[in-house]
Amino acid sequence: MHSSAGDTTEGNQSVGDKTTILYIEDDPGSLALVQRALSYAGYRVVTATRGIEGLDTAKREMPDLILMDINLPDLSGREVTTKLRSDARFRTLPIIALTALSQAGEREKTIAAGATGYLTKPIDVDKLPEQVATFLAGARETVDVDSLMQAHSAYHQDLVNRLEMKIRELETRNEELRRLDKIKDDFIQLTAHELRTPLTLVYGYSRLLQESSIVRRLKEESAEIRTFIDGLVESIERMSSVINEVLTISRIATGRIELSVGPTNLAEIVGQIVTQFAQPAQQRNLLISFDPTQWPTFIQADGDLLELALYNVVGNAIKYTPDGGVVTLNCKPNSTTVLVTVKDTGIGISKEDQARIFDRFYTAGDTQLHSTSKTAYRGGGLGLGLAICRGVVEAHGGRIWVESEGRDEEKLPGSTFYIELPLQARTSSPRRMLAT
Ligand code: ADP
Repeated sequence: MHSSAGDTTEGNQSVGDKTTILYIEDDPGSLALVQRALSYAGYRVVTATRGIEGLDTAKREMPDLILMDINLPDLSGREVTTKLRSDARFRTLPIIALTALSQAGEREKTIAAGATGYLTKPIDVDKLPEQVATFLAGARETVDVDSLMQAHSAYHQDLVNRLEMKIRELETRNEELRRLDKIKDDFIQLTAHELRTPLTLVYGYSRLLQESSIVRRLKEESAEIRTFIDGLVESIERMSSVINEVLTISRIATGRIELSVGPTNLAEIVGQIVTQFAQPAQQRNLLISFDPTQWPTFIQADGDLLELALYNVVGNAIKYTPDGGVVTLNCKPNSTTVLVTVKDTGIGISKEDQARIFDRFYTAGDTQLHSTSKTAYRGGGLGLGLAICRGVVEAHGGRIWVESEGRDEEKLPGSTFYIELPLQARTSSPRRMLAT
């Protein structure tokens, strides 16, 4: 070993009075062997089996020395070393490469990448504690300037080659993922269509049944029959609303939905939504505060889709607010836009979830607790409602976002959803394809 006195490990901390060694290695045999030998010699050994995990462990544990395998499954040991050296906290830390690679130039390349030393496998467990102690005392390997220059350029070439290979790999995988995503979207859409056709018939027949005089009489005569029929109709309605949600979102995702823009009475739409939720809100002692005189009469938009979007946001405010709470609907028009706010006094949304709840099929919280009820406290759904809202709002050229202090089922910080819509939907023709 070419050794010379070098920097000490100033700045690194030990846990208790033990010196900490981080060993980054994917081979379980080597891991067990080195861990045993060094622990026996009195060191505290922490391990990582992948390069990126090694970087995170190094930052968390701040070891006194790192033993690094070169051939790791993700980042190579050399790349991990170079990355660590870019962080001031690890600039002088002894990093010792431990590898089975024995080709010419490998040692020089490893030193060029920033390693302090280079030990070859198989590991001599009797000598290892002493070698580690030497590096801890400040020893480091040296390479003559010419070899180092050559090694630097060979290492850079390796990096560029690997980068190119990884980019090609990622492009191929992305292509494959896009293809699978499309197959999934088509499958969802086809399945929902296939289900909707017979369901429409079932729905129609259930309505006819309900209206027929025989059934009406039977319902009046028997409480049991009334429960059966009402339960049947309610379930069919719920099923068709789920299928419609799935169809709408898959249309939004695949760009197969059309905006039909025309004069849209926002106050009326919201008024209808409030009426639909009035009964369940009353049952749960929830106040829905809405003053139609504060809402602009007309904007240019697709009324049906906007109603669907707003229905979901108001429904969520009801779902995620415990009994006795308040849901406040407001609207602030200005010269080019309107800002609709839906504010609740519910469980709130964590900062982390705020960015993700608008994604398809994302439901925060425990899905086990979810039912498909639109009004029960914490009754959930498929995680499609807000994705539909965002698709619809953005298709109008608007924005949707949420503000909340965080999720807390005790303190109930509440959430406020903001929907900014242009007075005139961003479209030149009356019908326009969405491309979300
Ligand atoms: P879901 O059908 O599950 O309600 P959404 O897309 O409508 O799907 O909402 C996604 C998730 O966002 C919900 O599962 C819920 O955890 C959270 N969320 C939406 N609105 C609110 C709200 N007003 N308060 C608290 N959490 C909410």
